[in-house]
Amino acid sequence: MDASLNIEEWNGKEQWHPMGHPNDMLQKPPLIIKKGKGVHIEDNHGRKMIDGFAGLWNINCGYNRQEIKDAIINQLDELVYYSTFKGTSHPRSIELAHLLMEMTKPENMKRVMFSSGGSDAMETAMRIARQYWKMEGQKDRYKFISLKQGYHGTHFGAASVNGNTRFRRNYEPLLPGCSHIDAPWTYRNPYTENPEELGKICAELLEREIQFQSPDTVAAFIMEPVLGAGGVIVPPDNFMPLVREVCDKYDVLLIADEVVTGFGRSGSMFGSRAWGVKPDIMTLAKGISSGYIPLGATLCNERIDNVFKANNDSFGAIGHGYTYSGHPVACAAAIAALNIVIKEDLPANARKLGNHLMNRLKPFENTYKTVGDVRGKGLMFAIEFVKDKTSKKPNREIVSKIHKKMIEKGAFVRASGNAIIISPPLIINKKELDSIVDIFETSLIEAE
Ligand code: PLP
Repeated sequence: MDASLNIEEWNGKEQWHPMGHPNDMLQKPPLIIKKGKGVHIEDNHGRKMIDGFAGLWNINCGYNRQEIKDAIINQLDELVYYSTFKGTSHPRSIELAHLLMEMTKPENMKRVMFSSGGSDAMETAMRIARQYWKMEGQKDRYKFISLKQGYHGTHFGAASVNGNTRFRRNYEPLLPGCSHIDAPWTYRNPYTENPEELGKICAELLEREIQFQSPDTVAAFIMEPVLGAGGVIVPPDNFMPLVREVCDKYDVLLIADEVVTGFGRSGSMFGSRAWGVKPDIMTLAKGISSGYIPLGATLCNERIDNVFKANNDSFGAIGHGYTYSGHPVACAAAIAALNIVIKEDLPANARKLGNHLMNRLKPFENTYKTVGDVRGKGLMFAIEFVKDKTSKKPNREIVSKIHKKMIEKGAFVRASGNAIIISPPLIINKKELDSIVDIFETSLIEAE
């Protein structure tokens, strides 16, 4: 490390920042976050902020947790790396696999493949789904259906099922056989204002799309139980259970992308569980290690595991895996982080404080002329801003103003299009959460 390097001089000049334009980085250099403790972060000028976005939806246990740091150091002392490609393993990956199976007993998950993050986990899920159908003798079942507002990552597999054209257009052609249906977005949809009716309509859209594609060509339907990057879209209560019914009717696999919703964010241990639904495949990342070391995981249920086991020839082996599938240090960090999630019952804290956040923020829809919609579940919230409440025209300008003011006043949240996203570490307490809301409200008053 060159201690004399002026980091501000080089900030944004050489690094490609995900989703960023090189010129933007020069005009508005990235905020340099230097330190973190608990729910607070500090920039390189010593300005302290409360982190209202938990890093990138991942620092669920908060920054600088001794238990996780100890687990990492101990693992570095014991074994920095060994491969889990067939033939070798190591204690932490075995322990973490077991812990995940215990945690997903209600979903009847039976096997896990580890990877390095959410995009990897989705790539793995899509490959497992395709191989499953080949082994089942239904080789034409290769297609995937997903939601137009969904986000699943950046590899070619995930990008093909992403909704937003921004993540697809520059890289097309993507995988053939991927199609999209409308998400049940209560605030913006052409169908109805009634959430239950909307849930039914969108489940019918799925059924119609499966029929249109021909059911014997569809491998899986992919959805986030609560859509995160698409703007925290909370489906009506009946949607995911109805999706499960439609999938069962046409024998289509259900892949739940729990990269954000996994491990408590939505107020239940898993987002699917919050809706009472058992997916066939679950993708996990982010909160699995609380962001301390990159890690992803793809879990599959007994139905899928049995088919892989039943194929004794080389066909039953998975032709897929990563050098860092089950990296020992990442697994050690994850075991420590998940023990905190369980011991401190972070899903319950997310549920309780999520209700409090809703009580505080929902009235803003009536109080402030630019607040169009407040929505959330657990500790994932979006406040959508509009030019006026009749046209619902997106108001991005006020979002940038609020975002800037909030940083100045000591709270960091995410500005996403015309929405402010609040999704703090799950260890946050009521006082800290209230301070984010207070700063948000003051900034909103000043910006309006
Ligand atoms: N799935 C969801 C729901 C996500 O929100 C993300 C990232 O934000 C991903 C997948 C991709 O994860 P990663 O960025 O770790 O590859």
